[in-house]
Amino acid sequence: MKKVFVKSYGCQMNVYDAERMTDMLATEGYAETKAMEEADLVILNTCHIREKAAEKVYSELGRVRELKKERAGQGQETKVVVAGCVAQAEGKEILRRAPAVDVVVGPQNYHNLPDLLKKAKASRVVDTEFPIEDKFDHLPKPSKAMIQNRGVSSFLTIQEGCDKFCTFCVVPYTRGAEVSRPVSKIIDEALRLADAGVRELTLIGQNVNAYHGEDESGSVWTLGRLLHRLAEIPGIARLRYTTSHPRDMDDELIAAHRDLPAVMPYLHLPVQSGSDRILDEMNRKHTGDEYRRLIERIRAAQPNLALSSDFIVGFPGETDAEFEDTMRLIADVGFASSFSFKYSPRPGTPAAEMGAQVSEAVKSERLARLQNLLETQRQAFNHGTVGQTLDVLLEKPGRHPGQMAGKSPYLQPVQIETDRHQIGDIVTVRITQAGSNSLFGEVVKPGSQAAA
Ligand code: SAM
Ligand code: SF4
Repeated sequence: MKKVFVKSYGCQMNVYDAERMTDMLATEGYAETKAMEEADLVILNTCHIREKAAEKVYSELGRVRELKKERAGQGQETKVVVAGCVAQAEGKEILRRAPAVDVVVGPQNYHNLPDLLKKAKASRVVDTEFPIEDKFDHLPKPSKAMIQNRGVSSFLTIQEGCDKFCTFCVVPYTRGAEVSRPVSKIIDEALRLADAGVRELTLIGQNVNAYHGEDESGSVWTLGRLLHRLAEIPGIARLRYTTSHPRDMDDELIAAHRDLPAVMPYLHLPVQSGSDRILDEMNRKHTGDEYRRLIERIRAAQPNLALSSDFIVGFPGETDAEFEDTMRLIADVGFASSFSFKYSPRPGTPAAEMGAQVSEAVKSERLARLQNLLETQRQAFNHGTVGQTLDVLLEKPGRHPGQMAGKSPYLQPVQIETDRHQIGDIVTVRITQAGSNSLFGEVVKPGSQAAA
C-alpha cells in the first residue's frame, strides 16, 4: 500500500478538509502515515490568513524538497501537493517558488486529487477554479473504522465561504462565496458519524451561523432549526458550532441555547475590536455596544454561557485610545478563552492599502497587554469551575495509567482518575483543581454511556 502524509495548517475547516482528502485517497490505495519520511505522497493543506501562516508553507516546502531528493536517491518517488488557501491565493506562483511541488489544488477542488495526481505523472498541475459542481457530492464516505479512529468528537462542515468581506480578511477570496450544504446531506453525514460512535458534533463554516441550507422540499433552514434536528439523533449528546459572526446571531439560534441541552453553553463569537471606528473600518457592521447587548441577550437565554473571541490589534490607523476601547470591551464582557493576533496585511484586501499602518513595536506592545488581560480572564474562569460539577465527555486515555482525558461543556480539557469508564462516556465530574491548561476532577455520577 502507498502512504500519504497530510499536514494541516490553520482553521478547523482545514482539519475537516484534510480528513476528507485522506478518506478519498484511502479509496485510491493510500494508507495514512504520521511520518513524512515514509510518505509516497505529501500534502500540505495550507492557511493564508496571516503572512506568517503563508510563509511557514514555503519553509516546510524547503524541507520537503530535501526529503524528496533523499527518497529519489533510494529509488523512491514522492509526489508533493499544496492544497488549501495558499494554493488558492498563489496558484502557479507556488510552482515557480517551490520546484518540489507537483500539484497545487484549491479548497474547492480537492475532490479532483486522484485525477490531478494522474496528470502530474506527465507535468506539474494547478487546479484553483471555483467549480460548478459541489465537491461534497464527489467525496467518498469514510468507513466506520476510519471514523472510529478519529474519536468521539467530530467536525462537520455545513457551510463554506464568506460574503462579509471584512477589510482585513482573505477568506472571501480564497474560499469563495458563501454556500450552505443541503439539510439532507448534513443529516446523512451526522447519522453516519453517530452510528460509528461519535457523541459530539462541531458544525463548522467560515460563517457558520449564516447557514441557510435547503431541505428536500426547497424550504430554507436556519442554523437554529438545524440544531433542533441534529439534537434528535440518537447518540449525539453535544452540539457546537464555529465560527459565528455577531450579525448572524438570530433569535432562533439564541433560543436553541436555552431550549436544547445538547447545545453546549460555549460560544466562539469574534468581535475583533472594541472601537466603533475600527469596527466600521473593518466592515464588521456592528458597534461595540451592539456586541455587548447581543451578549446580554444570549446570556439571558443561557446564563452559564462561556464566551470566546478573536481579536486583532494594530489594524491600520488604530490609535492608543481605540486600543483602550478594545481593552474596555474585554473587561466588560469577560472571555473564557480567546485568540488574538497582530494585524497582518494581506495582498488584495482593502485594509492592506489603507494608510497609517501601525508599527510592529506598537502592535507587539498592544498584543502583550491584551493577551495578559485575556489570560487573566481565562485563568479566573478555569479557577471558577473548581468545586462545580460538570459533565465531561471522555475522549482518550489520560496522561498517566488509570487516567482519562475529556472535555467539559466549556471545552476545557479535564483529567480524571477512573478505570471504570470508556471513551465516549459522558460522566459527571466534580472539579477539584485547575492547572494552567487542564482541570482535574473526580467522577460523582457515571452519566450517559457510549453505545457499546
Ligand atoms: N469568520 C470568522 C469571523 O468573522 O470572525 C473568522 C475567520 S478567520 C479564519 C479567523 C480569525 O483570523 C479572524 O477572526 C481574525 O481575528 C483573524 N484574522 C483574519 N485576517 C487577519 C489578518 N489580516 N491579520 C490578523 N488576523 C486576521
Ligand atoms: Fe473573514 Fe470572518 Fe469577515 Fe468572513 S466574516 S470576511 S471569514 S473575518
